[in-house]
Amino acid sequence: MNTRRSPVLPASKLPRVGTTIFTVMSGLAAEHGALNLSQGFPDFDGPKALRERVSHYLDRGHNQYAPMTGVPSLRQAIAGKVASLYGRVTDAETEVTVTSGGTEALFCAIQAVVRPGDEVIVFDPAYDSYEPAVELAGGRCVRLAMPAPAYRPDWNAVADALNDRTRLIVVNSPHNPTGSVLTADDLDALESLLADRDTLLLSDEVYEHIIFDGAEHQSLLRRPALAERAFVVSSFGKTYHVTGWKIGYCVAPAALSAEFRKVHQYVTFASITPVQLALADFLADHPEHHLQLPDFYQQKRDRFCELLAGSRFTFEPAAGTYFQLLNYAAINEEPDVELARRLTIEHGIASIPVSVFYQAPPVDRVLRFCFAKDDATLERAAELLCAI
Ligand code: PMP
Ligand code: GLN
Repeated sequence: MNTRRSPVLPASKLPRVGTTIFTVMSGLAAEHGALNLSQGFPDFDGPKALRERVSHYLDRGHNQYAPMTGVPSLRQAIAGKVASLYGRVTDAETEVTVTSGGTEALFCAIQAVVRPGDEVIVFDPAYDSYEPAVELAGGRCVRLAMPAPAYRPDWNAVADALNDRTRLIVVNSPHNPTGSVLTADDLDALESLLADRDTLLLSDEVYEHIIFDGAEHQSLLRRPALAERAFVVSSFGKTYHVTGWKIGYCVAPAALSAEFRKVHQYVTFASITPVQLALADFLADHPEHHLQLPDFYQQKRDRFCELLAGSRFTFEPAAGTYFQLLNYAAINEEPDVELARRLTIEHGIASIPVSVFYQAPPVDRVLRFCFAKDDATLERAAELLCAI
């Protein structure tokens, strides 16, 4: 007699998590041959000189493990950039860690400091990777609303939410999915709220170089009082149009970086060697690339918005990121998840429904479109959207 039985699976550690919306919408776009403005990635390539440096290192045998914390020349280039842009002098040896994308850095930072019973303040709508990481660490997200259309944090609400269990506040500027940006006044408010507290900060700055209309990115690294308690995360994928390379970094004071690295070394150990070496060269040789990025993407934003002027969607041009929110309240009352699906299948254009980034979604009727696309793609997208 066969006495074997299937194991009873334990309850899910992430019972409310399904497949991320980016995978769902890109899959649906591919299945239906739709223009994919959903998941955020450029439809053009990264700089040729950068790709050539990767080939250079690939062909010369730089194909074994990189140092656990990152290739020294890349860590130094990151420290140099942070000093020149934000005036923060960091020790590349102890305060800069290269990671396999911004996603890994966010995860490691959260695992490094969040404990069972801790609270983490997150602003809604929020990028989808924060909360699962907090829950895996045994913590709980306290989600504070940033209402449309301004999508700004309410610092009075933060003051009310702060308590002795608040381990971490997650900020994200420029903000995905809304495109809003933090101002110097926001950093002032944050600074005064945290002055007498031990609460730490996690600042998701992966779109630091994609900010418009002459605004300056308000990196937490500009403020010593904030930087001394912050993990600041960025991603080369956004800056160099190479999202598939999955390379990012975390800048944090030595004591926080030490804890961060204890996690990073067992999540991934080290990130891809030839790409790190190539990025180090490119950062040193082509600082103009990231300095010109605001203009580069502002032109795309403006083109996309101009083309949509005749549509039935309403919008405020994004202040940063390569995402544009479009409000469809004048078109119909369908829930955004259904509309995004239907537009993909019936109209051939894929977007991201914004309600998925909330704990308790308001009825805002907005979809997110990625404009990191060639002009021809933007024109085709606008044609489809104007016909709706
Ligand atoms: N944070 C935000 C707000 C993002 O939009 C992204 C991009 N997907 C990431 C983090 C992750 O970056 P990466 O692709 O480098 O993992
Ligand atoms: N950050 C990208 C976006 O917002 C997607 C990244 C991912 O697919 N994980 O679209």
